[in-house]
Amino acid sequence: MSHIQIAVVGAAGRMGRMLIQAIQARSANARLVAATEHPASPFIGQDAGEVAGVGKLGVAISPEAESAFRPGVVVIDFTLPAATLAHLELATRHQAAMVIGTTGIDAAGVQAIGQAATSIPIVFAPNFSVGVNLMFRLVAEAAKALGEMVDIEIIEAHHRHKVDAPSGTALGIGKAIASALDRNLQEVAVYGREGHTGARDRQTIGFATVRGGDIVGDHTALFAGEGERLEITHRASSRMTFAQGAVRAALWVADQKAGLFDMGHILGFKTSQG
Ligand code: NAD
Repeated sequence: MSHIQIAVVGAAGRMGRMLIQAIQARSANARLVAATEHPASPFIGQDAGEVAGVGKLGVAISPEAESAFRPGVVVIDFTLPAATLAHLELATRHQAAMVIGTTGIDAAGVQAIGQAATSIPIVFAPNFSVGVNLMFRLVAEAAKALGEMVDIEIIEAHHRHKVDAPSGTALGIGKAIASALDRNLQEVAVYGREGHTGARDRQTIGFATVRGGDIVGDHTALFAGEGERLEITHRASSRMTFAQGAVRAALWVADQKAGLFDMGHILGFKTSQG
């Protein structure tokens, strides 16, 4: 099997470094061919492998985003919403496939990703861990079974550096629950409570956010009824789980035609797009 060529944008970030480690761990099938960073990054010009702690790879971190995008290359992007949207345009122009893990992308940005996916293959997921993607299915099952008998709350905790809230994963859990219950998440979501809130409306889905220390990512879906409650919890203990999932997605998407995919497709939970 020939090597799948992978580029990592945001290569010196927390996830960027993990991604380069995960690519090296799959070096029988995958090869890092380009790495980029924000032009103001102090890591420009350094070897991407050395920055990631896996030894010299002969790939210098470039400030030129365009250098990463070419046909036959899969670009993995865990950066910032504005950067990801700029990268999306380059990917479309140069016909490169993308794996996008950036969270906090607004509705217009998500629409732009859908539009780009009409001409290139894209895997876009709020969470690349296998356990969380299984959780998306389990919470939908629980919601269907418990239906209107319970109040549903989603609680998430992350490290102090995370810039968006609630997490993309918490929103993904909310979306899975809302769609299982035929509710529109935008209409029923309650993001935090303060002051005299009144009694709880059973149709709502509440979100609570915790930020602190080095928490990699905890998510709980709480189904609270009269006399009992069910909690479904996932705890990530290392970012490596996301990096491994994203590299797995990159190897998978390299063979795909244009379309929008998520981890459900890679894990075999889904066959249709969207
Ligand atoms: P980070 O701040 O450590 O890394 C982001 C990197 O992107 C930085 O090094 C920054 O310099 C770089 N960057 C910014 N603009 C750039 C540009 N224009 N070109 C190239 N590089 C640019 O953040 P992180 O913890 O690695 O997280 C990054 C994103 O990934 C966040 O949105 C986070 O929520 C998301 N994330 C997703 C998953 C998932 O499974 N989907 C898992 C973990 C993190």
